[in-house]
Amino acid sequence: MKSVIEYSHAILKEHLTSNDIALDMTVGNGHDTLFLVQNVKFVYGFDIQKIACLNTKNRLANYQNYQIINDSHENFLNYVRETFKGVIFNLGYLPKGNKEICTQVSTTLKTLDLVLKHLETQGICVIVIYSGHQEGYQEAIELEEYLRQLDQKEYDVLKYQYINQINNPPYLVAIRRKK
Ligand code: SAM
Repeated sequence: MKSVIEYSHAILKEHLTSNDIALDMTVGNGHDTLFLVQNVKFVYGFDIQKIACLNTKNRLANYQNYQIINDSHENFLNYVRETFKGVIFNLGYLPKGNKEICTQVSTTLKTLDLVLKHLETQGICVIVIYSGHQEGYQEAIELEEYLRQLDQKEYDVLKYQYINQINNPPYLVAIRRKK
């Protein structure tokens, strides 16, 4: 069985081609961004921390098909003018960084709502959720509440979670736009 991170990449790959545009809403240390630039035409990446943008640009040194933007993801429509087919949010705080700077549920929900309205048909949005820290716990609850009420005629919503691991390991939700 695939780990949550492996599965997040596998499900993106299943839906995306080398002609597609993708968004990484939380670039962090650039692992997800690297995966995307290797699999799609162009990637827009966002992070509120300069250090995360820098770490990501360093990781992408051999690629040109991306733009890293030091701004909150809720403003993504100020930068992304094309339609997009794939999105990843890897929530929480920067590994080895300041744990106090982490995604906030109100911003995440506002951004997700915009993403789902603009996502191409048959496009995929993947969210890796860390409910093991305090903000993450609340974020997980509110996100799932929001996702459960999405109309099943318009979106498929999948949850992928290991249920026998200790310490609230990360889990994944994936939303596919049907029409
Ligand atoms: N995807 C990353 C990787 O592959 O290394 C890991 C991302 S890390 C778990 C979460 C990141 O979200 C942090 O770098 C943090 O600065 C960023 N972040 C928090 N709030 C944000 C926001 N409103 N807009 C964009 N990035 C945000």
